[in-house]
Formats: sequence, structure tokens, C-alpha cells
Amino acid sequence: MSVLIVGSVALDTVETPFGKVEDALGGAATYASVAASLFSKVQMVGVVGTDFPQQHVELLQSKAIDTTGLQRVEGKTFRWSGYYDFDLNQAITRDTQLNVFQDFTPDVPDSYRDAEIVFLANINPQLQLHVLDQVRNPQLILCDTMNLWIDIAKADLLQVLQRVDVALMNEGEARQLCGTSSLITAGKQLLTMGPKVVIIKKGEHGALMFADPAGTGFSEFFAAPSYPLEEIKDPTGAGDCFAGGLSGYLDYTKDGAVNNLRKAIIYGSVVASFNVEDFSLNRLRCITPEDISRRYNEFKTMTAFE
Ligand code: AMP
Repeated sequence: MSVLIVGSVALDTVETPFGKVEDALGGAATYASVAASLFSKVQMVGVVGTDFPQQHVELLQSKAIDTTGLQRVEGKTFRWSGYYDFDLNQAITRDTQLNVFQDFTPDVPDSYRDAEIVFLANINPQLQLHVLDQVRNPQLILCDTMNLWIDIAKADLLQVLQRVDVALMNEGEARQLCGTSSLITAGKQLLTMGPKVVIIKKGEHGALMFADPAGTGFSEFFAAPSYPLEEIKDPTGAGDCFAGGLSGYLDYTKDGAVNNLRKAIIYGSVVASFNVEDFSLNRLRCITPEDISRRYNEFKTMTAFE
């Protein structure tokens, strides 16, 4: 089967203390899809304009990503511009140009509608809901979001949370949505809003999972570190790669149990750790299954104790 992924496809201008790229391939769905393609087949839904270089579409297709649902319409591609200071956990947005996103309605092709795993990457929550209205019988639905939607579309986002199994967000978003400084309080509170599993991403400090598999309240907790890297060039897309890798692994293993989710979190962390080693998808596009298993095993050694 395939993972259905919907989200932004972008041309990003990004500056970090270690360099700069202009109009480089980016977007939440792009990062997530390439990450998921390392484990499973991907069906992608998104929109680009007439200025979107064909070579980027070819890159996606070279990863066996189905781009039937990637619409190309008259106008300019979504653009995001941001920078990071030495605190690479915090992206500062300089400019967002919605462009073709303005009038975008994500139509899910018929050939995608039986997807078992659906990952709603960062995009307007109304569009995430529209995708959920079109899929037939997904076994597992995951979603991500960002502070913008908590600010301007909170009611829609709360509806999305009601309809998903796994909610992912970063620590700032979890604190903002739950009005608390404690991530433990936030994780437990998010579990009461609909999802059975909540994963709070903490950038270079790893991720926390809170789960309520039996529907009787919070009962499972997992804390994963991130891979200890000294050289990070560009953290853009790390969260999307984490979520994409995790979704792809869940689709590959067909096992949504909490123990397998723990493994999926580590695989997501492994993929994210490669992505931040270079700008755009420059590193992600060339990682191999051997690279992934090597780092996965390092994670095991790094966290083992008796
Ligand atoms: P991340 O670093 O994982 O938070 O995601 C970075 C990606 O999010 C970039 O490639 C951007 O193109 C994309 N992005 C930024 N702002 C938005 C937005 N308002 N809606 C959807 N995607 C966005």
C-alpha cells in the first residue's frame, strides 16, 4: 500500500549562520514524502505553479512518489522565506507568499482514496479536513500543524485533532495550544482532544510520545533523544522528515501498536538527522537504506542501559 501525504510544496529561501539558498525545493509535503519514500510507496497531494521547475517533479518521481495528485496550476508556487540564528530550533519567518495556495482545493485522486495511512502535513486545517472527507477507510491518520493555524484557524485545527489518530506538533505549538509551559501537561491535555497518540517534537532535544491506546486515558510514555550531530546546516523540514519517516515506516510495517510507534519515532529521527546536514533536500535525496540502518543501530547503542 501507500502513504497518502498532503501538505505544502514550496520554493524556500532560507538563511542560517552556515549559508543561504534561494527558491530551493521545500514544503512540508515535499520533505515528508521523500522521507516516507525511504520506507514505503507515497501518494502525494499538493499544488505548484507554472514556475515550479520540472526537475523537482522528476526528483519526486525518481523516489517512486506518485505525483498524480500534485496539481500544476497557472500562477506562482507557494514561497516561504525564513532564517535561523545559532538557535536552530527556532525558524523566524521573513515572508510567506501563498500564491497558488490561495485558491487550492486538494482533490484526492480516486487511485489514492484507499490509502491505509494518511499523513496530513502542515497546511491550512480546512484543507486537511477536506482530504479526510475524501478518503475511504484509512487505518491510521496522522497530522502536523504550525503556530500560524493555532493563531488564525484554531477551531478548524481542533476539528482535525478530533479526527486523527496521531497528532504531531512541536513544543512551542503544544505549549501555545494548551496554554501551559509543561510539555507533560500539554501532551496529556492533547490526548483528551481526540488523538490516541500525541508526539511532541523538541528539535535537537528529541521527541516525546504520549499514548492512550485503550481509550481509557494516558497510559504510555516514550522519550526519544535526537541523533547527536555537531554540524547542522539547515534545520528546515526536520519536523516534516521526522513525520514522513515515521509514517512511511508505519505503512511498511502495518503495525500501529505503541511498541512499533517507538521504533517509528526512532526511524523518523534518523531521517530528520540526515536532512539537517545540508540545505533543502540536498542530503535527504541521496541517503541509502544502509545509512538509515547504521544510524538506527547507533540510536540503540546510545540509549541502551540496564
Ligand atoms: P519545518 O521546518 O518542518 O517546520 O517545515 C519547513 C517547511 O514548511 C518549509 O519548507 C516551508 O515551505 C513550509 N512552510 C512554511 N510556512 C508554511 C505555511 N504557512 N503553510 C504550509 N507550509 C509552510
